[in-house]
Amino acid sequence: MKAALTTLGCKVNHYETEAMRELFLADGWTIVDFSDAADVYVVNTCTVTQTSDTKSRQMIARAHRANPGALVVAVGCYAQVSPETVAALDGVGLVLGTSGRREIVSRVREVLAARKAETRVLPAAQQREFEPFSAVRDSRTRATLKIQDGCVNFCSYCIIPYARGPLRSRPLDEISREVSLLANEGYREIVLTGIHLASYGRDLAGQSVTLLDAIHAASEPAGIARIRLGSLEPLFVTQAVAEALSKNPKICRQFHLSLQSGSDAVLRRMNRRYTSEEYLRAVELLREAMPDCAVTTDVIAGFCGETEEEHRETLAFCERAAFARMHVFPFSLRKGTRAETLGDHLTKSVKDARAKELIALGKRLTERYLQSQIGSVVEVLAESDGAGYSGNYIRVSTGAPEGEIIRLRLTGLDGETACGERLNEKSFISV
Ligand code: SF4
Repeated sequence: MKAALTTLGCKVNHYETEAMRELFLADGWTIVDFSDAADVYVVNTCTVTQTSDTKSRQMIARAHRANPGALVVAVGCYAQVSPETVAALDGVGLVLGTSGRREIVSRVREVLAARKAETRVLPAAQQREFEPFSAVRDSRTRATLKIQDGCVNFCSYCIIPYARGPLRSRPLDEISREVSLLANEGYREIVLTGIHLASYGRDLAGQSVTLLDAIHAASEPAGIARIRLGSLEPLFVTQAVAEALSKNPKICRQFHLSLQSGSDAVLRRMNRRYTSEEYLRAVELLREAMPDCAVTTDVIAGFCGETEEEHRETLAFCERAAFARMHVFPFSLRKGTRAETLGDHLTKSVKDARAKELIALGKRLTERYLQSQIGSVVEVLAESDGAGYSGNYIRVSTGAPEGEIIRLRLTGLDGETACGERLNEKSFISV
């Protein structure tokens, strides 16, 4: 039997697709390219914007066209929030949403045997269990481990809490076990990911554990040289947290704090829980504790009612925060979110023009950050092509064999890739 899988959307979705691919392989299936003829197509959908919905539907249609007799399985966030729409699409025979994916292979077999369409979407609000997918091996050196799911923040533009449900954390002992396994397999870098990582532990009743405990558990196994963190909530970064992070040399000096807007009025309308000053304080705390760290962010251009002045405030704020990298998205209204009640929506051309300005600023800030790092000493984990990333997420050519950690002084840039001279000192990370 042949299965083909494809993913739309975020890193967590990609993670979950990889985990499902492993489940099919373990059951003896052959995995083929999504454009090839398969018996089963799995489309891991996304609903973060209207475009994501459209693309999810297009991928389902593409699967059906590739083999009209095949079973199409729709999973992920769009399938979760719009199961009836998805189930009605040609070829779709199973809709799983954001739960029940660990049993995907047996459910597929059941549907194939019965050959009738089924929708098994557990409402997001009823999802209580963390789905313990294994880590995803991104390469031979780096693996991603999902340790948290769900979000209860209900930012007014965001559909994710409706698609992913309440907070669920992976228990600490499972994190330790999984990372030890990866260390034994020779993995050197672990990326810890989640939907709202900073909420890690809040649902683990009576254990009073936080993300710092999860990081500690993941950094312990010998052989693991680096821990990279997914997106963090600005208010999570207190002085104590910044100091704790700085004392762990395995933590990559790259921190992603989603900003969304630099205007306090817009942040309030977005139902974000921090002010621009509080955000900036978090950035300062990280930089005081780890001076060379890269701070990266997401920004939404043209949220409901955003005035030209508020947009200018965001541009000025980003300049002041001196981000190493910015991901910019024009605002896209999601049905069912609180933004629907806000009104005062901007035209597409205004949103696109503002996004363009922010993207141009982000490019300048990246160049500035990279220039500022010339002369600094970094450690790079070499990948299969000899290049790799420093802890502060600078791509560096090394020519070293895969898996080796090289200490270099950065000497120049070729576009966004740096080069450097190798230093013979020992790595500061003891593994
Ligand atoms: S914190 Fe806000 S933006 Fe992030 S997933 Fe939760 S609701 Fe969405």
